Amino acid sequence: MLTVNAYAAPSATEPLIPTTIERRDVGPHDVLIDIAYAGICHSDIHTVRGHWGPITYPQVVGHEIVGFVREVGADVTTHKIGDRVGVGCQSNSCGICEQCLKGEEAYCLNGNIQTYAGRDYDGTITQGGYSQATVVNERFVLKVPESLPLDKVAPLLCAGVTLYSPLKHWNAGPGTKVAVVGMGGLGHVGVKLAHALGAEVTVLSQTMSKEEDGKKFGADHYYATSELETFEKLAGTFDLILNTVSAKLDIGQYVNLLAVDGTLVLLGAPSEELSVVGMPLISGRRSIAGSANGGIPITQEMLEFCAEHNVLPETELITADYINEAYERVLTSDVRYRFVIDAKSFA
Ligand code: NAP
Ligand code: ZN
Repeated sequence: MLTVNAYAAPSATEPLIPTTIERRDVGPHDVLIDIAYAGICHSDIHTVRGHWGPITYPQVVGHEIVGFVREVGADVTTHKIGDRVGVGCQSNSCGICEQCLKGEEAYCLNGNIQTYAGRDYDGTITQGGYSQATVVNERFVLKVPESLPLDKVAPLLCAGVTLYSPLKHWNAGPGTKVAVVGMGGLGHVGVKLAHALGAEVTVLSQTMSKEEDGKKFGADHYYATSELETFEKLAGTFDLILNTVSAKLDIGQYVNLLAVDGTLVLLGAPSEELSVVGMPLISGRRSIAGSANGGIPITQEMLEFCAEHNVLPETELITADYINEAYERVLTSDVRYRFVIDAKSFA
């Protein structure tokens, strides 16, 4: 066992605090990673605050992990000491179901093991990336292209693939109109990716305050959802709408913005029920769908795509003692656009 420093939530209502956790011994197929940076995803907050149901405390979160390989197990062939690597939302899966065999580990039929707050096959609760080091099965370790600066890469491991995967699945590209709802951590990467894929990109944000940034990131259009005219003006426009909002939205309003055959994809994951009237779906053969981050092959593809197209998240580098303040800023949409923790500060 390896004891490492970390920051953990002691309960749903208390701030995160410094602590130590144990990482398992490096097994034959394991990789020990010295963590360099860890991004803060809104899912971390949903999880520690119990928005998605009760969890076991103390809990270390963080599923946007990058660092360097320190040690590899005897049978590891895909990674070597010193490699720049990343770990995203999943760190294990059954490996034998139809979805795993297709490389769709996010949809493992036997339940993929989340990087944190999941129960691993050995019965332990997984602990995430707000720490100095981690041990992960080699199948879930991504290779980080040399040209990408490591601190900027971290958010790609969740935010990047969560947007890249539906953009590819629903064929965003030249000639398609894509709207991104909410320009936070996920949303701003979505704007950059959709633009790099050649789609016509619209941001639907609560206000116009981030318009200049949105256009800089590649948006062709920018509208405020607080203005009712937005919904009148854009009715019937989009082939694909990616909803990254962390709070409950009136989904029906957004269904009306879809073109015929358009799809509204839910990425933001508030726990409240959503309701929608059927007729606008029927009359325009429109769909509402959901999408979870992405399997390992598409995550690797996304990293290569970002290297090739120079797509990098906008990050604010923080030290561990700022995590709780960062959470408050995420909750008030005061994030520009992803907090990344410098793991040296866990020492
Ligand atoms: P974030 O950085 O907080 O961004 C969310 C954005 O939503 C905010 O920046 C804000 O954008 C908008 N927003 C927030 N509250 C709102 C409200 N009450 N009404 C309307 N808009 C609001 O969060 P994130 O890290 O991008 O994560 C977003 C959501 O995606 C979370 O629920 C997270 O759990 C989920 N998620 C899902 C997956 C998946 O696999 N599907 C993966 C990762 C995260 P504007 O200021 O531009 O309006
Ligand atoms: Zn995430």
